[in-house]
Amino acid sequence: MKILIAVKRVADYNVKVRAKSDNTGPDLANVKMAINPFCEIAVEEAVRMKEAGVASEIVAVSIGPQAAQEQIRTALALGADRGIHVLTDAELEPLAVAKCFKALCDKETPDMVLLGKQAIDGDNNQTGQMIGALTGWSQATFASDINIEDGYATVVREVDAGLQTVKLKLPAVVTADLRLNEPRYASLPNIMKAKKKTIDNTSPEELGVDTAPRVTLLKAAPPPERQPGVKVEDVAELIDKLKNEAKVIA
Ligand code: AMP
Repeated sequence: MKILIAVKRVADYNVKVRAKSDNTGPDLANVKMAINPFCEIAVEEAVRMKEAGVASEIVAVSIGPQAAQEQIRTALALGADRGIHVLTDAELEPLAVAKCFKALCDKETPDMVLLGKQAIDGDNNQTGQMIGALTGWSQATFASDINIEDGYATVVREVDAGLQTVKLKLPAVVTADLRLNEPRYASLPNIMKAKKKTIDNTSPEELGVDTAPRVTLLKAAPPPERQPGVKVEDVAELIDKLKNEAKVIA
């Protein structure tokens, strides 16, 4: 079984990202970048499937600037076999990303596309679903468990009401949720070995993908600053303030 895994380059989740002063977007100058955390979970799951003898090949795909090679290399150090870099300096919308994946699915004919449930930069949570729609393959989002058997994937999904188990015919698109696994760290020997693995380069143009945006970003601004609180002397004063100042109790 061949798996395509998506690895997006995003600002490290520990970084407090600020909006640019002209409100045109986040200020990413000199910010530490990393693999999107949910993509790390997708990589880990694919590697575990390979270790269990279920997967035979893992191909790590990143769509982004030249520097996105770093995230592909990290995925290779974690256990992916080879990489595909779709080079673009544009910040693609989920539809354009999904179209690139659809083109790669036509070329690579994987049995599964495994993505993160969302990228922590745009919080779109759309790409996996759109790949499902464009390929016509079965899909399961928010996976917390995946089991492959006889050409089917049984996926436990995290839904509002609890856990939903679905059975998908392969090929399928699956997006990873937080509890699917705990990703490992890349070891130094594996980081060295990853340098020898192949990364093929392509572009949205070469894949025949129209990347024209459908959405206009009007403004990116920080959330309003939280106002400082006050200390009250006793419960009576607290109740008085809640009643008469905040007016949240009658
Ligand atoms: P989103 O729909 O933007 O929240 O992204 C959902 C998932 O799609 C992410 O967790 C990634 O696995 C994948 N993805 C989105 N954009 C890219 C990209 N530029 N390169 C690789 N994978 C991506």
